Amino acid sequence: MSNNNIQSVRGMNDCLPEVTDTWQVFESIVRDWLRRYGYREMRTPILEHTGLFKRAIGEVTDIVEKEMYTFVDELNGESLTLRPEGTASAVRSVIQHNLLYDGGKRLWYMGPMFRHERPQKGRYRQFHQVGVEALGFAGPDVDAELIMMCADLWRALGIAPTLQLNTLGDYESRQRHRTKLIAYFEAHQDVLDEDARRRLHSNPLRILDSKNPAMQALNEAAPRLMDELDEAALVHFEALQAVLRTNGIDFEINPRLVRGLDYYNRTVFEWVTDQLGAQGTVCAGGRYDGLVGQLGGKPAPAAGFAMGIERLLSLMELGSSTLAPQVPDAYLVHAGEAAQAFAWQVAASLRSAGLATVMHCGGGSFKSQMKKADASRARFALIIGDDEAAAQQVTVKPLRGTAEQTRVEVPLAIEFLKQAST
Ligand code: ATP
Ligand code: MG
Repeated sequence: MSNNNIQSVRGMNDCLPEVTDTWQVFESIVRDWLRRYGYREMRTPILEHTGLFKRAIGEVTDIVEKEMYTFVDELNGESLTLRPEGTASAVRSVIQHNLLYDGGKRLWYMGPMFRHERPQKGRYRQFHQVGVEALGFAGPDVDAELIMMCADLWRALGIAPTLQLNTLGDYESRQRHRTKLIAYFEAHQDVLDEDARRRLHSNPLRILDSKNPAMQALNEAAPRLMDELDEAALVHFEALQAVLRTNGIDFEINPRLVRGLDYYNRTVFEWVTDQLGAQGTVCAGGRYDGLVGQLGGKPAPAAGFAMGIERLLSLMELGSSTLAPQVPDAYLVHAGEAAQAFAWQVAASLRSAGLATVMHCGGGSFKSQMKKADASRARFALIIGDDEAAAQQVTVKPLRGTAEQTRVEVPLAIEFLKQAST
């Protein structure tokens, strides 16, 4: 193959059929899980006005500063951005369509997100999230629901990430903490790295999130937000912990968990694993009570989370928790004109009965068709020759196991295949 062939964009992957099989099983588990919790799907455009993300996520965040795919629509000069996450779009849509007019809403979405990051295992430029948002609920009960439903999904997927929990408090306490942090870091200017210096006055809280080992000691001793929290935020956090304890959900309080998006307040959490190296967070979320108002809606409390599908699937693979791929129920082998005419009818009947049926196309001998049937991984070959066509019957040949082949009427073949596929 020549190097001149066009390749996919760096950090953006194809999902080939083998892998897509797994994704589909994952997606159907997720859909059923969300249905059972009373959450409803919404779909928003992949492109939004750049201003939405600047306002929602925050100007001085990694995402907005350096990770967004932003371009000018040359036809009208508007600045547009490929969505880097889903919460901003969900909230924009909820406000635009006044969805909260009759009370709280439980929503979810699933799809591709785009961030211009350095591609590596578990970090891509196009990646996929399942996002869950509960809007209009102020209490810690909904925070607990969101966290406990995650735990439920992990059981279904056969994985066991651990829960890290923190509270960021409310606006006033964050302001107090911010003032103290700036003073503290200003007093230690010499230890600050370049990132920290840049963030000192714009977003000092993010300095605490630094992965630079040289900054760790300084960060450990920094003024703690915990010490500034208001009574109401503490009560909220305590109540959440109480529900988690009662329901047997283990967690670890991590005071340094601050999240990379500005819109969070009070509860924040991450589900993490040590099995995926530096890309160990498989799911992250929290409360964002200010965002609806900040984006121009009538203020409403809200909380949610997003999980990274690629990371979840890698974690499942490491634990050899597998999602059974789809295989066809039947592969239709036929030779001769009359046989083919009958085969079309048989295929239609099988499909109407819900059986996944692959019709052989391209002719060839029985022998070569049987090879294709095997390669298709179908459970059965249904063989139709002139004899079968004349008798309106099919020969059912199991392609797995040791069962004998039998020749039967079509309705009987359908019954047989349906039994075999359950
Ligand atoms: P990280 O610290 O790993 O960069 P983040 O805080 O930027 O994560 P969020 O914005 O909270 O991530 O997104 C929620 C989840 O989406 C993450 O926990 C992760 O599982 C997944 N995710 C985020 N960015 C990527 C990416 N570039 N590639 C693959 N998955 C990602
Ligand atoms: Mg990130």
